[in-house]
Amino acid sequence: MSIRHHIGDDTLMAYVNGTLAESLSVVVATHLAICPKCRKSAELMEDMAGLLLMETETASLSAAEEAMAETIPVGVLQEDRILDRPKKTQGYSNTGVPMPLADRMPAALDDIPWRTLIPGISHYPLPRTGSSKEKGTLRLLKIAPGKTMPEHSHTGQELTLILRGSYIDDLGRFQAGDLADLDSDTLHQPVADTAEDCICLIATNAPLKFSGFFSRLLQPVFGI
Ligand SMILES: [Zn+2]
Repeated sequence: MSIRHHIGDDTLMAYVNGTLAESLSVVVATHLAICPKCRKSAELMEDMAGLLLMETETASLSAAEEAMAETIPVGVLQEDRILDRPKKTQGYSNTGVPMPLADRMPAALDDIPWRTLIPGISHYPLPRTGSSKEKGTLRLLKIAPGKTMPEHSHTGQELTLILRGSYIDDLGRFQAGDLADLDSDTLHQPVADTAEDCICLIATNAPLKFSGFFSRLLQPVFGI
């Protein structure tokens, strides 16, 4: 598998700090399980954060370290937040999905009891374990070959990890293992582009915003 689309630096930093929403953290952990490049980046960030915590009381910081320190509020890197994160595991489970996702799956990918949203597009909401006050969703989404998702943007962040098949949108082609890290500025309309269903793991930390009259009618259907 050659992964071409990775976790954004800001998202990975928030994950390392333990400040990323739980639903988004599941997608990050699932990508990390199969992406050595992002694992390496996360390790570097963890090392840097650890060093900063040790150094803040004992030594003066270089300009570069001071800049880094501003992005990592001391006190944020707390054990309890870090323990909340999905476990660090690598590789695939025997059900064919990356390890951090396996515990939350109701069945193997071929046996998911999909719920139809609109013809050609179905979903399956996954359990979240974070605070009930935390907004956001975690779900599997299945798009039939050639089908187009309604055009939408985001009021918050949306992370999409491709588990099977592929899709194309304005940002490029996303295949199994690729992660789309989208913020509120991005308007997109993915189209499943192979002969097989495109199955994705999607997390949001706020509702999606559908554009266009018809798409807005779908808002309650998608419920996201
Ligand atoms: Zn990656």
